[in-house]
Amino acid sequence: MIQLIRGFKDILPGEVERWQQIEKTAVALFEDFGFKEIRIPVMERTELFARSIGEDTDIVEKEMYTFPDRKGELLTLRPEATASIVRSYIQHKLYAQDPVRKFYTIGPMFRRERPQKGRYRQFYQINAEVFGIASALMDAQLIFMLMTLFSRLAVVDVEPYINSLGCPLCRPNFKTALGDFLESKAGDLCSDCTKRHQRNPLRVLDCKVPACREAMTDTPSILEFLCPECDRQFEILKNALEKLNISYVIDKRLVRGLDYYSRATFEIKTGLLGAQDAVAGGGRYDGLVKALGGPDLPATGFAVGFDRLAELTAPKAADSARQPDIFIAALGETSRSLAFEWTCALGLAGIKVEMDMSDKSLKSQMKRADRLFAKHVLIAGETELEQGAVILRNMATKTQVTIAIENLVDNVKKELAK
Ligand code: AMP
Repeated sequence: MIQLIRGFKDILPGEVERWQQIEKTAVALFEDFGFKEIRIPVMERTELFARSIGEDTDIVEKEMYTFPDRKGELLTLRPEATASIVRSYIQHKLYAQDPVRKFYTIGPMFRRERPQKGRYRQFYQINAEVFGIASALMDAQLIFMLMTLFSRLAVVDVEPYINSLGCPLCRPNFKTALGDFLESKAGDLCSDCTKRHQRNPLRVLDCKVPACREAMTDTPSILEFLCPECDRQFEILKNALEKLNISYVIDKRLVRGLDYYSRATFEIKTGLLGAQDAVAGGGRYDGLVKALGGPDLPATGFAVGFDRLAELTAPKAADSARQPDIFIAALGETSRSLAFEWTCALGLAGIKVEMDMSDKSLKSQMKRADRLFAKHVLIAGETELEQGAVILRNMATKTQVTIAIENLVDNVKKELAK
């Protein structure tokens, strides 16, 4: 038998309702905050990700699903959505009328990571991106939206971790100090970080290898190197969060290793998921639009890990709305053909309906109605049909009535409304 690809998964009925619920909640919230949906392709030119995420990152170095198409062009299944949204913003000049644009998108991402609980090779993200706003108030609002989303989904034990990455003015000073610190730890770093620390020292900060984490405990904090404007923006972020009663943790190791990223960076962590504890991550990428060929406009955004959020969301109690309102038990060829027409008509009228299309006995059809937790069974036997009627049995009260088959849909509706 052909099985799923490792690290990929099916989301089956029973679980998918939770995903729908999360999606509905997120969309309603984002729309209220002025975000519009954007849908972007799952595949782009490899170069887009190499330039936006960066050559020195784990994602680009080892995790992308990249292949040449039949003409030899290198294509990649998207490992994240921001790069595509930026490309789209630039390509369609979405900044032309008003540079301030807010987008959200929901969909699958692909990274060839080592699969484990909470980490998949196809996983889903809910993304929100804002263009044209430089103020840290927007970063605070994004964190507020995330916390509101979690609270509406009754997800507890989530806390924002925040940091600033400074800007091209102040970051070089920090990089020098970090470089000196890394020199002193050279023997303690993993092989990736040993390679990386010359080219991209910031990446060493968020390496997950325990030896590196240990070595980096006393790393200098970028917050001590911020220029006055970056410092002011970080204060605005913290004050806004305090005003919104959102408690946060300052995490000096929270970084993104690229020069396009600047100022606010954040992650929402939970104590409920074990090792893969980040449910959402985001931050400012003020230099990216320009770096990808667009105007010099600021941007900020986040990505929620949908799979992890679904794990944190309590399974809903058996959803009574999904039970059939009517199960039609038809006996004999003529009644089955009528039942078929009725199922179509009842379905069109918004009544959840099921029937058995094979030639089963009444007993076995009633059993199936029980298994589906059908609320009513409409019994269409030959004798009743001759009299232009069917029997409607209420499965909870075990009472039954006879109803006319003329205007059946209306008659059923009336009975259901009782
Ligand atoms: P990132 O784009 O790496 O900042 O990730 C944003 C969020 O996506 C993380 O906080 C996770 O919740 C989720 N995420 C990232 N990678 C994976 C993965 N391989 N499997 C499941 N969720 C993931």
